[in-house]
Amino acid sequence: MIVVKEGLELAGLGRGLMGRCATFDLTDACPLRCGHCYFYARPAGQGALPPAVYLARLEKLRAAHELSTALWLGGEPLLQPELLLAATAVFPRNAVVTSGLLPIPRELKAGVLVSIDGLEPEHDRLRGRGTYRRVLRRLGELRGRPFALQLTLTALTLGALDGLERLKEETGCSGVLVGFFTGREPSPFAIGAAARSRAVDRLLELAASVPGLLLNPPASLELLRRRGALAAACAYRRGDLAFDVRLERKLPCAYGGAADCRTCGCAVLAVRGSMRQGDPSSAELLRALFQVPGRA
Ligand code: SF4
Ligand code: SF4
Repeated sequence: MIVVKEGLELAGLGRGLMGRCATFDLTDACPLRCGHCYFYARPAGQGALPPAVYLARLEKLRAAHELSTALWLGGEPLLQPELLLAATAVFPRNAVVTSGLLPIPRELKAGVLVSIDGLEPEHDRLRGRGTYRRVLRRLGELRGRPFALQLTLTALTLGALDGLERLKEETGCSGVLVGFFTGREPSPFAIGAAARSRAVDRLLELAASVPGLLLNPPASLELLRRRGALAAACAYRRGDLAFDVRLERKLPCAYGGAADCRTCGCAVLAVRGSMRQGDPSSAELLRALFQVPGRA
């Protein structure tokens, strides 16, 4: 373990591999209105800043908070490709979460996580008819650029677990990172305690029987098992920051007003939690997710 930790420190990834991390809403616009979206679950903010103002504020935030890792959210960050390219250049490590509907610039130096809700029936049920096929077409244009899928299970789409292998084949992704719906209850999307624990059992089975399919390390899946358990491991309670589209602090986390620690099922947070507990596979996954293509 000491060797792994020292290796990470040598790689310049101190402070638990990622350095200090922040999530940013690059835009408050999105071509979709997915049923389970936390971003549009509450009234939208006051609108975006002019790009030059956004970038100048970003530089100040990076310096003031000593940030080294950024996760780009929205809305849909790829609606603003030029701003995204400039914003990702401010940080050594970046990852972008996208709906997969828009072109991904070749020069983007960031890991790419494409949000998907399962095969066509589940995906189109939450995101709109025809969206699954549109995403497949767009992913087909990536020509070898690696990307991961991010799948958020909801009570309406638990069946997506049965299609994960086909989903990987159809999309050509590097693997699937699975989380659970986070949001205030009552909600038709929230998954109850027993169903969530069964889903984690199924995911652990898949991790063991289909190598390379799931990106979630088993230790992080255990952190997702019990509703509410992630709160104790939450990186936002240990210094991570979230910023809205005007680069104001978003509290308590990227979910903003939709945050509910009792339902929280954020897969990336779970991996950060298991990494903190000393799980080397979690550290490796985070390094890969935020890796800058072409940089060791
Ligand atoms: S693509 Fe993302 S930001 Fe846009 S509506 Fe769907 S969940 Fe929300
Ligand atoms: S809802 Fe937000 S604050 Fe609560 S555990 Fe999840 S990420 Fe952390």
